[in-house]
Amino acid sequence: FPSQADVLIIGAGAAGLMCASVAGKRGRSVLVLDHANKVGKKILMSGGGRCNFTNLYTAPDNFYSENPHFCKSALARYTQWDFIALVEKHGIPYHEKTLGQLFCDNKSRDIVDLLLAECREAKAQIRTRCEIQRIEPVADESKAKGFEVHTSLGKVVCESLVIATGGLSIPTMGATGFGYDVARQFGHSIVPTRAALVPFTLNQRALERQQELPGTSLAVTASCGEGSFHEQMLFTHKGLSGPSVLQISSHWKKGMPVEFDLVPGLDLPEWLMEQRGKKQESFLHTLLTEFWSKKLVQFFLHRNGLQSKPLKQYGDSELREVGKKLQTWSLIPEGTEGYRTAEVTLGGVNTDEVSSRSMESMKQPGLYFVGEVLDVTGWLGGFNFQWAWASAHAAGGEV
Ligand code: FAD
Repeated sequence: FPSQADVLIIGAGAAGLMCASVAGKRGRSVLVLDHANKVGKKILMSGGGRCNFTNLYTAPDNFYSENPHFCKSALARYTQWDFIALVEKHGIPYHEKTLGQLFCDNKSRDIVDLLLAECREAKAQIRTRCEIQRIEPVADESKAKGFEVHTSLGKVVCESLVIATGGLSIPTMGATGFGYDVARQFGHSIVPTRAALVPFTLNQRALERQQELPGTSLAVTASCGEGSFHEQMLFTHKGLSGPSVLQISSHWKKGMPVEFDLVPGLDLPEWLMEQRGKKQESFLHTLLTEFWSKKLVQFFLHRNGLQSKPLKQYGDSELREVGKKLQTWSLIPEGTEGYRTAEVTLGGVNTDEVSSRSMESMKQPGLYFVGEVLDVTGWLGGFNFQWAWASAHAAGGEV
């Protein structure tokens, strides 16, 4: 076990491994430590096993942070195109699924192998199953001179210390609040954290009403606060999920209503009026199967206490009212599934106290934070990995 390294990185996930390869290639001796039994566990489980490793349209607007400017510099200096070039250099086949989201054709393992190959080339050493016990700053004539890190495998002395331990989501995969504790130890503040990109849970009554629906999906526009996303929604046994729900969960706080436009891009009241002119004898429920499955039609009619009649039996204002009721669904989720299933953690190390160029702490020279541990959180769609790559690349060039 190495007792000395120029750069010690804690966390062998997306950001930690990227940072190790960049620093190692500059000739720095690098050691990466992780408490898990293997590296890159979240990469392996990401994107349904195919890792949505970046997004073609990555821009600062795709990220949440108390300081929305913080992510700009790193994202501009290591872009989606840089990571795509790396994927191509390693001959990894990939495809665009939708909305610029790039996935591996094969397995997420390809991305972990890419990072490990880059780390080998950079001569970075990696140790797993290593618990970090204590970090002590080393000072010389009151000038910061690196760190002494005590671990279950021994003591390491390093010049630069990089915290790449990620957020709180999926504790069973090894997520911990370690990074926030280290930040606090050195006087940093933490922007309050909460689970994001996470399914909503509904109360028992609502679940009973939708008990026929788990597995059913439809295209919606989900809105909450300032957020609005046009993607699929999925009914589950616990509530609601699917990309539109995961996206809007990042805007949601307890008690807030979420609104779903169930026929996005169409004015349903006006459409029904037009249809009445053409198809007088058609029943409302038959027409609605243009948009929704039969089960969903029943569900939305029942939810609004509506009976289906032939269109000619509706008066103008009645039909418009029916269209209005069916167009939108507003509900207050009971909660979210929490960190147990959340893809990411909102909040984290306050970016006002970290350099946006180098990711170095403004409180403790030689200490760096990269990846999800920082208060930078991406939308669903490959943005979180792009932040991990970009922030790690920025730090890797400086440590
Ligand atoms: P992580 O990748 O989480 O790495 C942190 C590392 O630190 C881990 O190896 C962990 O074991 C280690 N660690 C933690 N605590 C300690 C400690 N106390 N001591 C030592 N080591 C420690 N993002 C996308 O962009 N596209 C996707 O397709 C995608 N899919 C996802 C699917 C799921 C199910 C989940 C949970 C997340 C997904 N994400 C996706 C989000 C993405 O995985 C994370 O944003 C990204 O991994 C963050 O990188 P990181 O290096 O900061 O942290």
